[in-house]
Amino acid sequence: MVEVKNLTKRYGTKTAIEQISFTVEPGKIYGLLGPNGAGKSTTMNIMTGYLAASEGEVKIDGHDIFRDSIAAKKNIGYLPEIPPLYMDMTVEEYLKFVAELKGIPKKQRIDEVIDVLEKTQTTTVCQKLIRNLSKGYRQRVGLAQALLGNPKVIILDEPTVGLDPKQITEVRELIRSLKEDHAVILSSHILSEISEVCDHVFIISQGHLVLSDTTANLPLHLKESQRICITGCGDLEAAKCALQSLNEVSSVTGEVLEGDEVSLEVVAATKEDIRAQVSKTLGTLGFAILEMKEVGQSLEDVFLEMTADTYASDADDEMDEEEDAADASDM
Ligand code: ADP
Ligand code: MG
Repeated sequence: MVEVKNLTKRYGTKTAIEQISFTVEPGKIYGLLGPNGAGKSTTMNIMTGYLAASEGEVKIDGHDIFRDSIAAKKNIGYLPEIPPLYMDMTVEEYLKFVAELKGIPKKQRIDEVIDVLEKTQTTTVCQKLIRNLSKGYRQRVGLAQALLGNPKVIILDEPTVGLDPKQITEVRELIRSLKEDHAVILSSHILSEISEVCDHVFIISQGHLVLSDTTANLPLHLKESQRICITGCGDLEAAKCALQSLNEVSSVTGEVLEGDEVSLEVVAATKEDIRAQVSKTLGTLGFAILEMKEVGQSLEDVFLEMTADTYASDADDEMDEEEDAADASDM
C-alpha cells in the first residue's frame, strides 16, 4: 500500500532524515516513534507530497508521490502536526470546502461530509465555528478532513499532542476504529501511545530508522540484561562500590531512604541470575538485605536504548519535550 525507499532529506547542510525505507500494508496501524527532532514530521511531509525529498522515493498504492502526485494524493488522508483548519468557518462549511478541494463530485459531497461527521462524532458541533471548539474537537475535525474521500492511507502527525487525558483516550479509540478500512500511520514521541494503538512500530532516531518490528516483538529487542532492586541496611557508598566491581554488573544506582535504610538498583549485562553473588558481596560488608527482587525491563528501556544517542547529545530537543508536556497539562 505504501512503499518508502531510501528517503533522505537535507535542509542546507543538515540531514533531517537519511535512507529511510519501510512498507505499510492495509488493515494495520503503524507507529512512527521517536524523540522530538527525530525526523517524523519530515518523513510524513514527504510521504504526503508536501515536501520534496533530497533522495529516495515514495509510492502510494503504486503511484509515485512526486511523479504521479495527483493519483497518489487521492489515496492519502493527512492530518499534519498543525491541522489546516479555518477558524472562521463552521465545521460543516469547512468539511464541504475540503470535499470540494479533494474533487469529490458535488452530489456525493453532503453524504461524505455526513459520513465523516458521524465517524469522528462531530455531528453535534457541525454548525459551530471552528474557533469556538475545544482542542479535542478541533483534532476530530482535523481527522474528519483527512477521512474525506475515503483514502486508503491515513497519515496522522502527533494526533494526540496537546489533548487532555480524556480526549487522548477518545482520539486513540477513534484511530483504532480506522484500521478496518484504512492503512494508518501515526507519529508520536510517546511510547505508551504507540504500544497501545499500533500493530507495528518504526523507531526513528536522529533521522535514521533504528527499528522496525511488531509491537508485540518490542521486548525481544532488549539487550541481554537483568535488573535487581534491593532494599537493605548499610553503607550506601560502600555497597555501590562493591557491587560495581563485580564483572557482570554494568551499573549501580542507589539512594538513602530513612535512617540507615537504602535502596539499590543493579543492572547486569547477563541473563544469568546474579542474585546469589550480589547477596554474598553485600554480606561481606555487613550490609543486611531486607528485600531483593528482579524487575523486568520495560518497553521504555527498548525505546531509550534505541534512541540513546539522541538523548545523550540533544539538549534542545529535550526542552521541546518539556514544552509538550506543559501543553498537555494546560488543557
Ligand atoms: P520530528 O517531527 O520527529 O520532531 P522533524 O521532522 O520536525 O522532527 O525535524 C527533523 C530535523 O530536521 C530536526 O532536527 C529539525 O530541526 C530539522 N528541520 C525540520 N524542518 C526544518 C526546516 N524547515 N529547516 C531546517 N531544519 C529543519
Ligand atoms: Mg514533528
